[in-house]
Amino acid sequence: METISYGSQGAYVTALQLALYRAGFLAQQTEIDGIFGMNTQNAVLRFQRFYRLVPDGIVGPETWNLLVPFLTGYTTHTIVSGDTFYKIAKQYGTTPAAIAISNPAVNPYNLVIGRSLVVPFLIPVVSALVPMNSMLCAFYIDGLVKRYAFLRSSIIGQSVLGRPLWRVRIGQGDVKMAYNAAHHANEWITTLVVLRYLENLAKSYAYGENIAQRAAQELLSRVTLDFIPLVNPDGVDLVTGFIAPGTRPYQNAQILATNYPAIPFPAGWKANIAGTDLNLNYPASWELARDIKYAQGYTMPGPRDFVGPYPLSEPESRAMVNITNQNGYQLTLSYHTQGEVIFWKYDGLEPPRALEIGRRLAAVSGYALEETPPESANAGYKDWYILNFNKPGYTIEAGLGVNPLPLSQFEAIYQDNEPLMTEAAWLGTEK
Ligand SMILES: [Zn+2]
Repeated sequence: METISYGSQGAYVTALQLALYRAGFLAQQTEIDGIFGMNTQNAVLRFQRFYRLVPDGIVGPETWNLLVPFLTGYTTHTIVSGDTFYKIAKQYGTTPAAIAISNPAVNPYNLVIGRSLVVPFLIPVVSALVPMNSMLCAFYIDGLVKRYAFLRSSIIGQSVLGRPLWRVRIGQGDVKMAYNAAHHANEWITTLVVLRYLENLAKSYAYGENIAQRAAQELLSRVTLDFIPLVNPDGVDLVTGFIAPGTRPYQNAQILATNYPAIPFPAGWKANIAGTDLNLNYPASWELARDIKYAQGYTMPGPRDFVGPYPLSEPESRAMVNITNQNGYQLTLSYHTQGEVIFWKYDGLEPPRALEIGRRLAAVSGYALEETPPESANAGYKDWYILNFNKPGYTIEAGLGVNPLPLSQFEAIYQDNEPLMTEAAWLGTEK
């Protein structure tokens, strides 16, 4: 974590403000603005005094250590004599049931002194108050996996800049499916949508509740769901400022962007950090995609629509192909923005049940089921998936507006897509 103080700006400041807000030291959501001003400094001083740190207003390693639990949503507690789940829950403002879910191997009637417990807070893990970046994604995934011990996370590859490509698995069913998000950098809101869904699904499962009118435990006895929430971490970090202006990767991207002066930088960036549009990099009529995009003027690396030097030239698209081949997913959802549209076909191929399931997904979300327009109907993940597996694969274009969609749209997008993701899993397991 970077040391920050009065006058700092950017993604670390936003993370700091989110943590302070969740810890109760910033009063208003509107104070989460990425600018370390007087309000933030005063909140840091109060936080440091409360935790008996040197109150210098500078957020360095010691202060960060105490703030991170408010980003992951949990802390650890070392058991002392006389502890009970009830007593610990009271101490941290959580519930004994939440502690039990996070520590399935611990017998609450036989607590071993000196052993450490995960103590989840009552706040949700995934926050839609701040833009996505790879650091927050890692915190959220850590927080979800610790809170819901039945989740499994793994790293399926690395981005161009070496960032992890996460996969989180939930469920025990024989039928495997995968939901991915943020192939495109300035569509990072989709990462929050699928992570929020994962959190709500895990919570519903843990407490025996319904999600979108389906019993979560029954659903997850039928399906194993893999979430790949951040396919393009470098690109997202560029758009949301975690790759800061002035740094080497930012400058390199800026140089690529000068080839395309009409596209706003970095807000118009869709590609990975090498300037390849990942959703035009799959071997499904890639040559045709190249010819179309070249004719449109996208002949070299840049913010969008460059197909890459050859199919699967990028580590991110290769990781997606590998994980898909290894698991033989029966259904895939690929989250993009925007348009409130579901695309379901590839090159005239209509996988069995794809239309029927697609119609149902449209009905529960209010989105339109459509065929992909010809100029963008090639070399995408969904195209490659349908071509190779002949199973239902959908591109979901969530929300309406100009990318990147603002966080103010998040709740509405989520409301449309919770039933969509639930029904896809449910219907995809029916014969
Ligand atoms: Zn997209």
